[in-house]
Amino acid sequence: MGTEYLEIPKCPRCGDRHRYKLKVERAIVMKWLIMSDMRERPHRVRITRLFTCPSKNEDFEATFILTDTSSNRIKEVSVLGIASENEQD
Ligand SMILES: [Zn+2]
Repeated sequence: MGTEYLEIPKCPRCGDRHRYKLKVERAIVMKWLIMSDMRERPHRVRITRLFTCPSKNEDFEATFILTDTSSNRIKEVSVLGIASENEQD
């Protein structure tokens, strides 16, 4: 748990598709602590991180969307690096 994959369909540096491995830390909030909203309403969280193009070895910034819920909040997202093609979620 904690590893998610992100596909960049068109790299701004080389134009190729890259797949990155992300480490996503989520804070599990106990359901009984949520007073205001008992429903599990998913939020779309916009995250911007630096990625390194493996072909040109240059950094670029990309914004992507992750989903969290009121009891499963995204705390920290870090880019672990490039993921190999056969790596699964
Ligand atoms: Zn690239």
